[in-house]
Amino acid sequence: MKPRKVDVIVVGAGPTGLFLATELRLAGIVVVVVERHSEPDLALKAGGLGPLAAEALERRGLGPALDAEETAALQAVKAMGQSLGADGRAQPAPRPIAGNFGGLFLIEQSLQREPARRMRGVAQSALERILAEHAQTVGVEIWRGQAVESFVDDGECVRVEVRGEGGPRVLEAAYLVGCDGARSVVRKRGGFDFPGTEPTLTGRQGLVELDHPERLLPLGWRRTATGMMAYGPRPGRLSVIEFDRPPSDRDGPLTALTAVELEESLRRVSGADVRITALRSATRWTDHARQASAYRRGRVLLAGDAAHIHSPFGGQGLNLGLVDAANLGWKLAATIRGEAMGNASVAVLDTYASERHPVAARVLDNTRAQLALMRPDPQTTALREIIADLLTHFPEVNRHFGEMTSGVENRYDLGDDDPLVGRLLGDGDLLVENEGEERRLYSLMHDGRGLLIEGDGGVGELDLSSSSRVRRVKAVGARSMLIRPDGCVAWAGGARGLQEALARWFAS
Ligand SMILES: Cc1cc2nc3c(=O)[nH]c(=O)nc-3n(C[C@H](O)[C@H](O)[C@H](O)COP(=O)(O)OP(=O)(O)OC[C@H]3O[C@@H](n4cnc5c(N)ncnc54)[C@H](O)[C@@H]3O)c2cc1C
Repeated sequence: MKPRKVDVIVVGAGPTGLFLATELRLAGIVVVVVERHSEPDLALKAGGLGPLAAEALERRGLGPALDAEETAALQAVKAMGQSLGADGRAQPAPRPIAGNFGGLFLIEQSLQREPARRMRGVAQSALERILAEHAQTVGVEIWRGQAVESFVDDGECVRVEVRGEGGPRVLEAAYLVGCDGARSVVRKRGGFDFPGTEPTLTGRQGLVELDHPERLLPLGWRRTATGMMAYGPRPGRLSVIEFDRPPSDRDGPLTALTAVELEESLRRVSGADVRITALRSATRWTDHARQASAYRRGRVLLAGDAAHIHSPFGGQGLNLGLVDAANLGWKLAATIRGEAMGNASVAVLDTYASERHPVAARVLDNTRAQLALMRPDPQTTALREIIADLLTHFPEVNRHFGEMTSGVENRYDLGDDDPLVGRLLGDGDLLVENEGEERRLYSLMHDGRGLLIEGDGGVGELDLSSSSRVRRVKAVGARSMLIRPDGCVAWAGGARGLQEALARWFAS
């Protein structure tokens, strides 16, 4: 069978795969996304998007789409509160979500160092729709209804066999990236190690209709003597966690959750006499925490849940997956361009794992710690009260927990002591001047290029004409900076070190 040749094959059109493909396409790479489902997956998963993930999208001009979704979601939450409040029990007015730790919703956004960098109340199904539209706009080809079952990396290229609607097909590419989720075929077939900790609990979640929803008030997360549960605050969303054992059929489809099973769990945990009259989009989940030891083997890479899995506590999965994609996209594009020019160096590509692996390792650990604050026993209750006290009375503690789950203070080690270098810059940090007009930073990054910001200290004599991947702009009242396409500060300061940074990241 004659293969179709492209630069990169991305397996999986989940959030990570879709965003990675658009990042590659923006950098001029020919990419095909292979997705086993024929239609976008509307399964109920994430209800919120971490700040770094949201910023990765805002850098590409998707901020207004996120705003619209968040506004609609808040209105739906308000409407649910009002309809259930009709029995006389006042429901609190919804407010933009901040982070939580172990179900302690005490992280105060106003206490954070950069309060504008916050979680967004955007559901995963809406996020995937926004990303799919963006992918279409930038010209990404998506093969839906096709599954990757096997591949061969011969050192020169990767050949992939794809099966599905229209019979088997073969793709050939310089690189293959597995963004195929927790049960990744790419990870398993690619021989990646996946060490970690075993599951201990069973989480169940679904969109439901109930005979007596008012018996589950108040809306939102609650800890009981037998587990944890949340009804709402989004319409129909029901989550129940029992901490006694992991799901019995762990290898079965996670979507095989029935209304009977969810209802029994709900009644055990809530103690309320409530029946589920309709169930949509039900999933089971657990708390195994595993991470691939390497993110690249030869020409095969992993990103998102394919590279790391953990419980959804603290809502951190998308923050990891989308920032993996933002970190990897432009580096893989630069590597492919370099190879086309006869330069086989993969040094930049390998910084993907050295930067992103430690970030995910810390998230896995904090999800393990969150579990230790959630179990329904008296010892855990006592510990939980101490942590709640610390969060409430010590702003520094509140900030520490907030930064742990939001990731906004993460700093990659780029070998520079300057505290700004290695950080992902927020959009509020500086105003940039472009063709005489003052603009916000991210508005100049929609095209996926890096930015050289000529601040008060200048940048010395430079010729950037050979690099089309960096745009040069001015900023008043700011330090000079080189910003990578993923928003990371690669250099900051006077003219020293700039040439090296440009050569290292942009080969210019
Ligand atoms: C109950 C629950 C609640 C959550 N809440 C949050 C939250 O509030 N905030 C948050 O940030 N995260 C949350 N998460 C985590 C978040 O959903 C995941 O981190 C996210 O889906 C990972 O995206 P991904 O693209 O890496 O993988 P996935 O979303 O799993 O996408 C993988 C894609 O690959 C496709 N695929 C798989 N195998 C193949 C194959 N062989 N060939 C072709 N295609 C294939 C799949 O069909 C799928 O479309 C939650 C998860 C769960 C289960």
